[in-house]
Amino acid sequence: MSVTHTLEADVLRRQDPQLADILHGELDRQSTTLQLIAAENFTSPAVLAALGSPLANKYAEGYPGSRYHGGCEMVDVAERLAVERAKDLFGAEHANVQSHSGSSAVLAAYAALLRPGDTVLALGLPYGGHLTHGSPANFSGRWFDFVPYGVDAETGLIDHDQVRTLARTHRPKAIVCGSIAYPRHIDHAFFREVADEVGAYLIADSAHPIGLVAGGAAPSPVPYADIVCATTHKVLRGPRGGMLLCGSDLAERVDRAVFPFTQGGAQMHTVAAKAVAFGEAATPAFAAYAHQVVANARTLAAGLAAQGLVVTTGGTDTHLITADPSPLGVDGRTARLRLAAAGVVLDSCALPHGDVRGLRLGTAAVTTQGMGEEEMVRVAALVARVLRGEGESHTAREEVRELAGGFPPYPR
Ligand SMILES: *Cc1c(COP(=O)(O)O)cnc(C)c1O
Repeated sequence: MSVTHTLEADVLRRQDPQLADILHGELDRQSTTLQLIAAENFTSPAVLAALGSPLANKYAEGYPGSRYHGGCEMVDVAERLAVERAKDLFGAEHANVQSHSGSSAVLAAYAALLRPGDTVLALGLPYGGHLTHGSPANFSGRWFDFVPYGVDAETGLIDHDQVRTLARTHRPKAIVCGSIAYPRHIDHAFFREVADEVGAYLIADSAHPIGLVAGGAAPSPVPYADIVCATTHKVLRGPRGGMLLCGSDLAERVDRAVFPFTQGGAQMHTVAAKAVAFGEAATPAFAAYAHQVVANARTLAAGLAAQGLVVTTGGTDTHLITADPSPLGVDGRTARLRLAAAGVVLDSCALPHGDVRGLRLGTAAVTTQGMGEEEMVRVAALVARVLRGEGESHTAREEVRELAGGFPPYPR
């Protein structure tokens, strides 16, 4: 298959054996451990081929038909294709596919709608807000006045009453909905209603669930939000990057916010790879994938709960699970390290009640590999055994190697 072909390309091997070894080492790591990081996935060989193409050479500041550089005939076609496919896939009037990352897409959304010093309501960082939702270490916290809303400490669900009250009190210019760790569907209609009541814009930062939306396995933010920001590399399974969707009324403001306000030249190899990924995401096979991702996450969540972990909100609607492993005698940080030693790769995260750290898991990558609910039952039991410290750690590592070996992400 073309990925191994790329990695084993004689050119790289001959010219830079040191780097060829690194690429091989990483492919080996990805193939022999379990990728449960909720933000990760395995892109297709076709996406990788576009990323590794000569489009990487091209400078293309501006937009198709209006560039600051010559020679954009072919990349203009690629970007138009990516935009048309994104609009079709999400039913949006306008799409911008140039953002270099999810964070730069959020920056562009703020740039399109806000001025420095404006008040913005967003999910607080301890409850799963992203850095771009008001962290003092990020541009967002420095340039805007963020008011955080939270989740209910008992249920783990977004506190809608608090959102409404804070919106009425602070009259924000924008409300952000979206999270890095929320396992349930977000009620976009509710957020739209509150935004309308206080005259705020609604920005949906749908970086995580946008792939489920593409596959019809999660409700779309597009009919409700003024701007939807997203990544293309999470469940959506495209190249690393960002995008924005909006109505025709905001199209020009969004485009100008991306270029020239926040970025220079677009990365045309990535834009082309986004087009490939949007094409893949429009297929029935991808819809089946998205539904399987959710079924796998539900089974994994139930398995973890049966093993004694406390699963936030009692389960999941998406690809993402957060859980408190402390009933098994470990906190999230120790749990993450212990699991990593066994070849189970995931994140630790904050939990709604805030006193201990938990674990965040996702099923996007393992589902791409072809794992199903049977394997999720096995993974839940394995995770619990490792956390309890039962058996030798090399035994768990061997079991992971054997399980992963049956589902190679890039078969030779
Ligand atoms: C992943 C994510 C981002 C940022 O994406 P990057 O590509 O890492 O910059 C922003 N917001 C949310 C909600 C995310 O989940």
